[in-house]
Amino acid sequence: MLVDSHCHLNKEFFDNIDKLREDAFKSRVGMYISAADSLSSCYEMLELASLYEDIYIALGIHPEHCNDDYDEYENILISNLNNKKLVAIGEIGLDYYYGKDNKEQQIKIFERQLALAEKYNMPVVVHSRDATLDTIECLKKYKVKGVIHCFSGSLQTALEYIKMGFYIGVGGVMTFKKANIKEVIKEIPLDRILLETDSPFLTPEPYRKYRNEPKYIRIIAEYLANIMNIDIAEVSKVTRKNVKDVFDI
Ligand SMILES: [Zn+2]
Repeated sequence: MLVDSHCHLNKEFFDNIDKLREDAFKSRVGMYISAADSLSSCYEMLELASLYEDIYIALGIHPEHCNDDYDEYENILISNLNNKKLVAIGEIGLDYYYGKDNKEQQIKIFERQLALAEKYNMPVVVHSRDATLDTIECLKKYKVKGVIHCFSGSLQTALEYIKMGFYIGVGGVMTFKKANIKEVIKEIPLDRILLETDSPFLTPEPYRKYRNEPKYIRIIAEYLANIMNIDIAEVSKVTRKNVKDVFDI
């Protein structure tokens, strides 16, 4: 069985979760961690988790939504600390791709959530785009662990994150023809890798013209097995254990 350790099963992307799970099951995908990115999606994820036993969730405010009502978010999180389906704080982080105009606000919201993660001993799901140095600086201020989702940096950066106790999230991007991230990923120890689709985004080759879905985690696992020159059964077994270790499921 494979796990999609990072997807966004929001209604606006997927209106038929039963069908999505059925299709994923045919590809032997049997567990999901669906991440919120905004205040409204936190409510959506909580509802989803209450309806499906194989869907676990992360609750967080993504840098793109760093102006959402933070206090309300924190209240939701704290009132769900005993919810067994809530396994992480995420996705949170820094994103300077569209500019650094609101950098201070992004850092403030990121750090507040890191402080929460430290206080309640929860793993974090980190989004970092064009912001590696600031991300590392923020993470170093708190005693937190988790995953660097959709990793796209150098091997040196990956190893630094690993040294800090993080796992590396790997998905469809490595299958893209021009992506040299595959050269980095094949050097990362398998016991620090989490497989993710980031559905509905970043569909792996050769399905890029379709919307991404958790069923494609199989394609990602096969691709990883291929570039690492190991058996897919090994990829499946080790990455499943990694999910258990990170999220304590
Ligand atoms: Zn994501």
